[in-house]
Amino acid sequence: MMDLNGGPRRGIVFILSAPSGAGKTTISRAALGAIAGLTASVSLTTRKPRAGEVEGRDYHFVSDEDFNRRVGAHEMAEWARVFDASYGTPRAPLDRAIAAGEDILLDIDIQGASQIRAKYPADAVTIFVLPPSFAELEGRLRGRGTEDEAAIGRRLKRAREEASAYPEYDYLIINAEVGDSIARLQAVVNAERLRVARLRGEFAPWQL
Ligand code: 5GP
Repeated sequence: MMDLNGGPRRGIVFILSAPSGAGKTTISRAALGAIAGLTASVSLTTRKPRAGEVEGRDYHFVSDEDFNRRVGAHEMAEWARVFDASYGTPRAPLDRAIAAGEDILLDIDIQGASQIRAKYPADAVTIFVLPPSFAELEGRLRGRGTEDEAAIGRRLKRAREEASAYPEYDYLIINAEVGDSIARLQAVVNAERLRVARLRGEFAPWQL
């Protein structure tokens, strides 16, 4: 992948984290459609597929045994326990994308984000999404209607904890209106694609 000036560069790992109910899935879906050259990383999870989810597109749905074996074999770039299931990002496709200059979007929780930040300090860009208020988040979570009261209660508690992690991130997007949020995300992506530090050694503007 070229940078916006036409120079060859390393791929960027864009990490999107948010408390559940912040509208992160909507933003990441829209971003993948709107931002050229950005591809989603497909995570592994041990949770069961929800209605409408497709194996290989939303997640790779695996057993606990399979997941644990891959962790033991160092196949994961990061992994974490979230809501009684394991989630993780496979390492090989991520490393391949960075080397090939392809930009990847990771939709992962705050534990995974801190592992990627530590392992890929030069290549990771972290973005946190918050809803305009906690009341808004609660409304969105209940409106989703996919879970019972106990599960919603657990998600709300966790959402408060997760929200407090935003100062560790590079960028913050308050998601009041999706179109606006995508435009801000696009601005972050454009700026990061212009960073001189990402250019490969062989790049020489004007052959200087
Ligand atoms: P859900 O079960 O609603 O799809 O996802 C629950 C949470 O797990 C979300 O916060 C999501 O960002 C996070 N998640 C999804 N994939 C991964 C992953 O590969 N690694 C980590 N650390 N978290 C993930």
